[in-house]
Order: sequence, then structure tokens, then C-alpha cells
Amino acid sequence: MEKMGKKLLEVKDLSVSFNTYAGEVQALRGISFFVERGETLAIVGESGSGKSVTVQTIMKLIQMPPGEIKSGEILFDGEDLVTISDEKMAKLRGGKIGMIFQDPMTSLNPTMKIGKQIMEGILIHKKVNKIEAKKRAIEMLKKVGIPKPEERFNQYPHEFSGGMRQRVVIAIALACEPDLLICDEPTTALDVTIQAQILDLINEIKKELNIAVILITHDLGVVAQTADRVIVMYAGEKLEEAPVRELFRNPKHPYTWGLLKSLPRLDMNSNERLTSIPGTPPDLLNPPKGDPFAARSEYAMKIDYERKPPMIDLGGGHFVKSWLYVKGAP
Ligand code: ADP
Ligand code: MG
Repeated sequence: MEKMGKKLLEVKDLSVSFNTYAGEVQALRGISFFVERGETLAIVGESGSGKSVTVQTIMKLIQMPPGEIKSGEILFDGEDLVTISDEKMAKLRGGKIGMIFQDPMTSLNPTMKIGKQIMEGILIHKKVNKIEAKKRAIEMLKKVGIPKPEERFNQYPHEFSGGMRQRVVIAIALACEPDLLICDEPTTALDVTIQAQILDLINEIKKELNIAVILITHDLGVVAQTADRVIVMYAGEKLEEAPVRELFRNPKHPYTWGLLKSLPRLDMNSNERLTSIPGTPPDLLNPPKGDPFAARSEYAMKIDYERKPPMIDLGGGHFVKSWLYVKGAP
């Protein structure tokens, strides 16, 4: 097993736009981040902030056109996925890179027994025969906590509950031993107790297999429970990045403050209301020149409307993109 601490995926200055009739939707504007083996990187932000476009660009699942990569690199194990051939990418997708979406039904075929669906990926990506693939599929069902895997092997998706279906999707993703597992809102469609079980499962698997996980969520509660490191996205930009405990103890960007205020806490009285951030995200057809959160921030200064703040290195892996921490900012 390779050790932790190696950048498995490195995204550098990635910008993605959609060319629409209304104009150019600038969905991602200069995003950079990395993820290492053995860690879970959470990407958090309100709906529309560019989380899904980020991972779909990595997976080459964005239709181009209308989508277009305007700049940047996506280095996976040293190879640039921006310029990689379609055949090579098809091998990586579902092989070295696994993906789990919000709704398990979108990734399962309703007319095919689930055992066969797990075997399919194994047969494509691994050099094994059918008997070995079946054995591995049943092992995977066991690993993700599905009782009586031999019987379940022969059932259809509709015979499974929502939580069990998401376990099957995880089994499919893991069957090919990915190095990177991308989870886009994997528990949003599930009820709370099942959510916790699925997050625990993802955590266990990350530790056991020493894989890298990217977990997208709009829920900071999920982040606290699961992530090692967090990036906060807004309007297609990364506004803050920090190890998870640092982000909760010492958040620096006004947008992060807003997100944290809208998080339910155990010590909260039932008559205390959760505040969601007032206002709406900017129009990405015409994104703001400066700090994209300025129009919604109580702390905005004149410069926030005029010039993009620099990304400031606060040490210990904590970064914030804000004029608030620039000494002598105009
Ligand atoms: P999130 O996952 O954070 O909720 P997305 O990554 O799905 O947000 O979307 C980011 C932005 O990109 C949104 O403003 C969305 O409207 C826009 N977008 C995504 N796909 C398309 C598309 N095919 N055409 C035009 N705009 C798109
Ligand atoms: Mg999304």
C-alpha cells in the first residue's frame, strides 16, 4: 500500500464555463486544490457554488459544448485529465476513480439484477473470469454491510431500500479498487439515521483501503462527521480551505461564518431559529469583480467590490481569500 501524504489528485487553476444562449456562465473560476491518499476532502458550499461541476469536470462527464474548460490542469497520479484521451479516461472512470451520486437510482439499472451490475464493472476493469467476478461481487456486498449477500445478489434494485441501494452503488464503486472515490451528496436523498450509516461506511472504507475521498455536501454537519480537510466554495471560487477542526474553531471568511450560523447545534434551544444566509448567490453570467460574497456580507469593504482578494496562507494548511486579512488593505 502506498503511504499517505502523496498528492493523488491536484487541480490547478481550473476554470469551466457553459456557453448558453444567454451568454457565458462562468461556473468555475480558478479553482485549485488537492487530495491525498488516506484523507477525505470535503467540498462545501450552497447550491450552485460549483461543487458538482468541479467533480464532473474531473470525471469528464461535462458535455462539451456547451461546457468548456477555459484554463487549468487536473493531475491524477501525475497525468493531466484535461488532455487525456477518451479511451484512457473510460478506463479510469469506474476503475481507478469511483463515483457515487446523490440518487442511487440514477447509477443503477432498474432492469438488471444487482449482482450482475457489480460483476459488469469488475469484468471490464479487472482481468478475472466470471466465477471470480461473482465471488468478488458477493464479497463487496458483504463489505458494504448488506445481509445475506448470496440471496441479494439475485435481486433487482427495486427490492432494496434507499439506504441499501446506496450501499450497492458503493459496492460497485469499490469493486474495482479505486484510488479515488468521489461522492457527490451521497446521503442527501436518505433519512438521517441511514445517512449516518452510509457516512460511517465511507469512512471505514477510506481507512481500510487507504483511498482518497472527495465528499461533496451542502451540510456542514456531514463535514464535521466525515472530513479531514475542507474547501469552501462559492460562486465558482474557493474562498477558504482548512483542516476540519480548524475550520470549525477558527473560520475566517464571512461566507464560512454564514454557513456555520446555519448549522444546527446540539446545545441549541428549540426556540432558537437557524439562520440561513440572507440574499442570493451572484449571477455567473456576470460574476462580481471582487469578492463574490461582498454583496451578501456585513463585513464588505469598498475594495471587496472592486478587486479580487488574494488567497492568504494563514499557516497549518489554512487559507482564506479575503481582504479582511490583508494588512493595510485599501
Ligand atoms: P452545486 O453542485 O454546487 O450545487 P453546480 O456545480 O451544479 O452547483 O453548478 C454550478 C453553476 O454552474 C450553477 O450556476 C449552474 O447553474 C451552472 N451550470 C451547471 N451546469 C450547467 C449547464 N449545463 N449549462 C449552464 N449552466 C450550468
Ligand atoms: Mg451539486
